[in-house]
Amino acid sequence: MIKVILWDIDGTLLNFKIAEKVAFFACCKDLGIQNTTEEMLGRYSAINHIYWQKLERNEITKKEVLEGRFIEFFTKEMDLVKEKKSTLLLPQNGKTIEEIAVAFNAEYQKKLGDTSVYNPYGKEIVEACQGKYKQYIVTNGTSTAQHRKLKNSGLEHMVDGWFISDEIGIEKPNIGFFDAVWAKIGPYKKEEVLIVGDSLTSDIRGGNNAGILTCWYNPDGLPNLQKEPVAYEITDLKQIEDILEKEERL
Ligand SMILES: [Mg+2]
Repeated sequence: MIKVILWDIDGTLLNFKIAEKVAFFACCKDLGIQNTTEEMLGRYSAINHIYWQKLERNEITKKEVLEGRFIEFFTKEMDLVKEKKSTLLLPQNGKTIEEIAVAFNAEYQKKLGDTSVYNPYGKEIVEACQGKYKQYIVTNGTSTAQHRKLKNSGLEHMVDGWFISDEIGIEKPNIGFFDAVWAKIGPYKKEEVLIVGDSLTSDIRGGNNAGILTCWYNPDGLPNLQKEPVAYEITDLKQIEDILEKEERL
C-alpha cells in the first residue's frame, strides 16, 4: 500500500515547455537580445537537455549547467549568424558572451518560476491525494526557480514538503538525494513510496536506485531507449488513481 508520493514538478505536475518558452523570450527582451525565433528556442532547449543529462551523470557541476548552456547557445548562434542561418542580434554594449550568459541565467531563474501552468489533471491529482497520502516534491531545479514555482502554482500549500537538489547539494538520480528525503520523512518501507516523474534518467532511475516504486509519466508515448525498469507507465496523470487503488488491493 502506498503511503508516500514523491512528485517531480517540471514536465510532470507542471508544464515545463510553456514556462521555458515564456522565460526564454522574456529574458531576451529584457536583455536587449533581438530577432529571436522559435527555432532558436528549440536549439537552446536541445542544448539545455544535454547539459542536465550530464549533470545527472555527475559529469559537470550545476554552475556549469546553468551558465554553460547559455554560453554554448549564444556561441553557436553567433556561428550560425556568420553563416546567415540565424538572425539573433546580441546587444552592442561591449559585454562578452560569457557575461551575457551569466546575466541571462540570473534573470532566467526568476522568470522560469513566474509561469506555472499545470499539466492536465496535475492540480486535481495532488488535491485528490491530500489527506490520504503524504506528498513531497522532489526536483532538480534551482532554489530560486523552484520556490517561485511552488508559490505561484499553489503547490506549497498542497504538499507536505519539498526537496530541491540545489538545497540538498546532490541531484536525482543519485542515492544521496533520496537519503536526504528519508532522513526527513522516514521511516517508510520502500514499497510504500511511489515516485512519479517524466524523466527516465533522473526520476525513474533515481526511484530504482532508492528501491521504491516508480511511475513514468510519458504523455508523448516516448520509447524507453535506456531500457530503464519502470513499475508503472502512464500517459495521463489521472491514471495514478488506478495505480494507488491497485496497490491498495495488493
Ligand atoms: Mg521532470
